[in-house]
Amino acid sequence: MPLERYRQKRDFSGSPEPAGDDRLRAKRAGRRKGLFFCVQKHLASHLHYDLRLELDGVLLSWAVPKGPSLDPKDKRFAAQTEDHPYEYGMFEGVIPSGYGAGIVMLWDYGTWRPETDDVRAALKKGDLKFTLDGYKLKGSWVLVRTRGYSGTKDSWLLIKHRDEWSGPLDITTFAPLSVKSEGDFADILAADDPAVWTSNRQDLPAKTGETGALLAAIIEEAARKKLAAAARGGARTRTTHRRGTKATRRPAANARKKKR
Ligand code: MN
Repeated sequence: MPLERYRQKRDFSGSPEPAGDDRLRAKRAGRRKGLFFCVQKHLASHLHYDLRLELDGVLLSWAVPKGPSLDPKDKRFAAQTEDHPYEYGMFEGVIPSGYGAGIVMLWDYGTWRPETDDVRAALKKGDLKFTLDGYKLKGSWVLVRTRGYSGTKDSWLLIKHRDEWSGPLDITTFAPLSVKSEGDFADILAADDPAVWTSNRQDLPAKTGETGALLAAIIEEAARKKLAAAARGGARTRTTHRRGTKATRRPAANARKKKR
């Protein structure tokens, strides 16, 4: 059953992640053109980048700890994970607890094209060449299966082919923000509930080490951003009360709309 592993791992009453619509999956299953791809930057117990390629109505998924590199010399370890629902592709938000708890940012998306007629055979062989057309990632890439560090069959390497889109640019540093909200992790948390982990410390995705420190700083920044937004909102309300004409109300309404 497609998406079985995905659904087993999650409790959808506590997670904002989509459960996946089987009718939509069936509808997209025959698609061989205009296939969706995305990379979600995921701050969980460790920061990583989830590469997802649509095939047969689901998103084949690999967790890439260091993220993609445009430099063909870099071979980025990629652990294949469970297929995700097609609807997951545009997801961005906060997973408060449970599997994958943390912050998900839509770091890149677009379409992908296999450079082979038989994608399933290429996957089975462990050598999938493909072309990406995203905002940040473009051109030709390959996923090659390796025996990996742990000796499992789920270990792959993500490598950029040499072409007009390759080069020595560190793309994760050069373009760190969301292509959906244009924000960073703190903005995404501020838009949700910046206090989600302050009272539930046991749900904190990372408590110690480098990731713990990074997350603590993000939580603090998100709280500051939320306060600043509330203060701006408050000032606007007071202004509207004092000089409550249509002319003064309109810019505030527009500003609020723009923020969303
Ligand atoms: Mn992930």
